[in-house]
Amino acid sequence: MTADAPRILLVEDEPTIARAVADRLAAEGFAVDTAADGPAAVERARAGEPHLIVLDVMLPGFDGLEVCRRVQAERPVPVLMLTARDDETDLLVGLGVGADDYVTKPFSMRELVARIRAVLRRVERPAAGGGPAPVRVGPLELDARARRVRRDGREVHLTPTEFDLLACLARNRGAVLTRAVLLEQVWDWADASGTRVVDSHVKALRRKLGPDLIRTVHGVGYSLEAAS
Ligand code: CA
Repeated sequence: MTADAPRILLVEDEPTIARAVADRLAAEGFAVDTAADGPAAVERARAGEPHLIVLDVMLPGFDGLEVCRRVQAERPVPVLMLTARDDETDLLVGLGVGADDYVTKPFSMRELVARIRAVLRRVERPAAGGGPAPVRVGPLELDARARRVRRDGREVHLTPTEFDLLACLARNRGAVLTRAVLLEQVWDWADASGTRVVDSHVKALRRKLGPDLIRTVHGVGYSLEAAS
């Protein structure tokens, strides 16, 4: 572990899983901090400013959704959520909770590490598209370099993935992008197995930016309306 190792906060209340995951992440060169309940997770996230949070859903105190909400309200930080079942993932996706990715238990360590690296890679690079100058689309202003967005002059806080998705739609404004294309461009996934993750983030963007900007083209995908 070096001083500039990516910091991961692991939030998991099952000691066996927590230990196994923490050991593996440390072996992979990450600086690992842990928490075993909701309040401790929020406190550790505030104190340690992790680069990414691996977050179990069912926790003592309050659950992973509430942790996600509280942490994201203070600072945008990528969240990889650990779910107990596929239908739990569907449920969370439906709620648009703002996690950047989901991994269902039981998972392989190799898969978890690959997903963590993929999220960190995405967040480290400049936001997809956009370029250096702020871009205006209707009431939106996107600053890709600072990763900031305003609607009608008011700043809106987005998670890193939400920002990347919005930037991708903005770069292609007026065009319809399929879920598979968005997955590849925003998430770097070549296969389309995670299309519900796209739906989750669109839902979150609509909640934060208003329902009128991103259009669903049924059976095809999404588009950001061109400036009017
Ligand atoms: Ca749990």
